Amino acid sequence: MIEKAIMGQALAALSDELGEENVLWRKSDLVPYTRDTFTISPEEDNKYFPDMVVLPRTTAGVQEVVRVARKHRIPLLPKGGGSNRTGMLVPIHGGIVVDTIKMNRVLEIDPLNLSVTVQPGITLKELEEKLSGRGLALNQEQGSVKVATVGGAISSFGFSRKNQKYGTIADRVESLEVVLANGEILRTGPKVLYTSTGYKLSQLFVGAEGTLGIITEATLRVEPLPEAKETVLAFYDDFWAALRAAERLRGSCAAFVGAEAYEVENAEELGAPEGKKGIFFVMFEGLKGEVEAQAEFVRDIVRETGGALASGYDPEGLIGLYATQWCGLRAISRFEDEVLPYIPAQHIREYYDRLWNEIMPKHGLSPFSYDKLSMDVGRYSMLYGRFSIPESETGWQEYRRAHREAARTAVELGGSICACTGVGISHRDNLDLEFSDVALDVMRRIKRVLDPDNIMNPGKKLPPG
Ligand SMILES: Cc1cc2nc3c(=O)[nH]c(=O)nc-3n(C[C@H](O)[C@H](O)[C@H](O)COP(=O)(O)OP(=O)(O)OC[C@H]3O[C@@H](n4cnc5c(N)ncnc54)[C@H](O)[C@@H]3O)c2cc1C
Repeated sequence: MIEKAIMGQALAALSDELGEENVLWRKSDLVPYTRDTFTISPEEDNKYFPDMVVLPRTTAGVQEVVRVARKHRIPLLPKGGGSNRTGMLVPIHGGIVVDTIKMNRVLEIDPLNLSVTVQPGITLKELEEKLSGRGLALNQEQGSVKVATVGGAISSFGFSRKNQKYGTIADRVESLEVVLANGEILRTGPKVLYTSTGYKLSQLFVGAEGTLGIITEATLRVEPLPEAKETVLAFYDDFWAALRAAERLRGSCAAFVGAEAYEVENAEELGAPEGKKGIFFVMFEGLKGEVEAQAEFVRDIVRETGGALASGYDPEGLIGLYATQWCGLRAISRFEDEVLPYIPAQHIREYYDRLWNEIMPKHGLSPFSYDKLSMDVGRYSMLYGRFSIPESETGWQEYRRAHREAARTAVELGGSICACTGVGISHRDNLDLEFSDVALDVMRRIKRVLDPDNIMNPGKKLPPG
């Protein structure tokens, strides 16, 4: 909590600079800023309040906020759409939330050099719409595109289901403008995708979760819109059969956009024959002839691996709707969580068995039956599993134990605790499983150099120490 006298000074200074309407401090206005889509525990829900919320429009406005925060050593929490899943925005130390919602302008679209420069608060959906009007696309398809912002996606290392062809947001960043904790403006480098000069400073801020500075401008790589699109959707008896088809695809030279395999209770609503529990879909985009040929190649894989090709459906609609449905549910329920590890392909079966047949039952947690598991079979072997938590104090304690055991299992099998959605509070205390003391120390030293007073989103991303 900020002391009363300091709060008065900070409020006056920031209201002068940003305008009174852009500084929120009444408790009722602060309630929406007490949590994101993560629950620390049911008792701690809405427990932590920020002291103030500011809504700057410009880099100069952000600089002024940082100046005031630095003077009084007030924590700063840069915020985009607030859709992160790991508690990155829970104001555990109070402070000032820097809501970037009004920093949402497209500053330049450069079709010749295939880049776009934006303020950080524009949502991915809005940006795609603006680019589409100019025949271009960013191609970052997250389940949260409607709310996730460019600043938030960069800062949480956003994962896109179109990653095989277009990479993730990390691969799109050309250059960033960042207001550092000392108020300086850092330009990370020229607005080019490829350069061998300097250290790649922009990548330092990818996945930094607001702990190193506030991104005020981003230049990103874009591509021309494709001539044709096609999705092949197929059903299998079970997840493992779908995965075998995915392995065939990955072992081929087919140029697909992204692909996923699912385990579901019932795929009939997607038009599957009765009893099918495995889903496999592959997306293609590009020149018409190329897309047709690649899609036919995958249909052959499906036939050869005993799958049933879906017919008479709108793949874009069905797959889009499916994603939105499970994402929407994920955002609202408190008594559920997810695992999102990267697991090397040869260990997926072992991870699956240990997670669902040992760890989860031991701690009384149950998978969501209609949507137990999905897996990215594009560039990444990212698994996604959803489970519910019993609504009791012991239920919550067991869940935290299971959470750590699942993390340990991922690391033991040569993977990573959390392939996407970042660390926040949720995975912070498990980082020691994945990184050596030396690696954690280097990270802490980087943080100290850029943020010596620890005002940038303190208590997130790194374990205390
Ligand atoms: C329904 C649903 C579906 C999802 N699907 C996906 C998915 O497909 N792929 C995926 O990767 N994630 C997904 N997520 C998680 C989340 O949407 C992403 O992490 C998203 O990129 C976060 O963007 P945001 O604007 O909401 O960021 P926020 O939640 O507002 O912030 C995230 C982090 O970024 C920091 N930050 C925000 N703006 C700035 C800035 N300008 N400068 C510095 N730091 C900043 C914050 O401090 C915080 O630490 C999903 C979440 C939900 C609820």
